[in-house]
Amino acid sequence: MRNLEFTAAALLAAALMAAPAVAETTVLSNATVIDGTGKPAAPGSAIVMTDGKIAWVGPMAQLAAPKGSKTVNLKGKFVMPGLIDGHVHVGMMKDVTQDVKFYDRANVEADLKTYAAYGVTSVVVAGTDKDVIFDIRKDLRAGRPSMARVYTSGQGLVFKGGYGGLFGLNVPVGTPDEARKAVAEQAAKGVDLIKLWIDDERGMIPVKMPYAVTKAAIDEAHKHKLKVWAHVYYLDDAKELTRQGVDAFAHIVRDKLVDQELIDLMKTKGTWQFASTLSREIVYSMAVMPWIQDPFFTRGVTPGTLAALRSPEREKNVMLGYIRVPGLPYEKRLFGDMGRTVVQAMDNYTALVKAGVQTGMGTDSGPNGRFPGFNAHEELSMEVMAGRTPMEAIKSATSDNARWLGDTTVGSIEAGKWADLLVLDDDPLADIRNTKSISAVYIAGNSVPTIWQTCRERPSTACTGGWKDRGTTPY
Ligand SMILES: [Zn+2]
Repeated sequence: MRNLEFTAAALLAAALMAAPAVAETTVLSNATVIDGTGKPAAPGSAIVMTDGKIAWVGPMAQLAAPKGSKTVNLKGKFVMPGLIDGHVHVGMMKDVTQDVKFYDRANVEADLKTYAAYGVTSVVVAGTDKDVIFDIRKDLRAGRPSMARVYTSGQGLVFKGGYGGLFGLNVPVGTPDEARKAVAEQAAKGVDLIKLWIDDERGMIPVKMPYAVTKAAIDEAHKHKLKVWAHVYYLDDAKELTRQGVDAFAHIVRDKLVDQELIDLMKTKGTWQFASTLSREIVYSMAVMPWIQDPFFTRGVTPGTLAALRSPEREKNVMLGYIRVPGLPYEKRLFGDMGRTVVQAMDNYTALVKAGVQTGMGTDSGPNGRFPGFNAHEELSMEVMAGRTPMEAIKSATSDNARWLGDTTVGSIEAGKWADLLVLDDDPLADIRNTKSISAVYIAGNSVPTIWQTCRERPSTACTGGWKDRGTTPY
């Protein structure tokens, strides 16, 4: 009897496996849809999600809900595409300590879940990944993930003795030939992009990647049909790299005001200001972070991070300006004089946008002081502060980023794309800070825990405060 039951169960299981999978459909109804393409918001809309993809989007009056579908009524709510953060680093931190030894699959996935909680459904990692990222990316792309998607630059190119990378991970190159070899190696691993660093930490490092090396890297990458994005700081470097055919910048120019020559070069060559990392620049100049008690922030960081950020030591370091970063052979002037850099970054962003240079959105979050997910919302606010409309800021972080990446499966709410969605209680077009009013996050149609349901590395009861509790003070 027992045997018979077992056989029957096995037969049933086999039959289920052989039968065509039944489509799983969820309808999001009565929402205002901001589709990420820049098209005006559409109130009274419905989105049909089937097996993780957007099957249909349109007015409620034309909705034909498939039989057997589940409906979620989003009356009064706003739906926009999940954010794409175009410049991050993952898996390298334990609280406020950065070290290559922390990088493993579990730590990377913890970051990817944090990004997802904040509505950041895709991230582009800027050249500091270990090879396990290829396994993680493969699994994310094979199914319907419940954490942020990943685009990787593998191990980006750092010049010998120069700036950049993750200490102990990136193998520096010293010649154009070595640069070509390094690019070919990364291409063979299957990277999405090639990243390089050209900087000297405001003159504190005696060497900087020579133009012959950047040129070799760019040429080799293009042979492999890979785009190159560069960490730049100086206007002159941005110009030369644009002439050499670099595809995008991972930061905005910060030493001086961008000029017409750079603007003309970028527009002629189609070079993107992919990530501008405005929110990266501002954190350095803050002795006390204004969001240190904000539950939108505190829910997403570890208790160790909170303790360090609230410590008098940190405040003193910010005021005095010099700190020693483990692994760096010099003292890093992180804080004291960064205020001017923020202003320069903002002015340059405004100038490039006004001139019509193509821009995306990216934060450089991950390293100490720049917080996964949280910074994406700060970045959007800073884009608006720099003169963009909320609609333009949203577009930069969604369809524009997808366009530069060349990925047609994400970045907007259109039929055929992945259902990577951010559901908001309040209108982000009325106030960009309303992107924090996160009611739900979907990745490939999977509802994942939002930041308001998160309490990183603590029991959930240890975190209090939600969007509706903010009173009259905007978060
Ligand atoms: Zn970076």
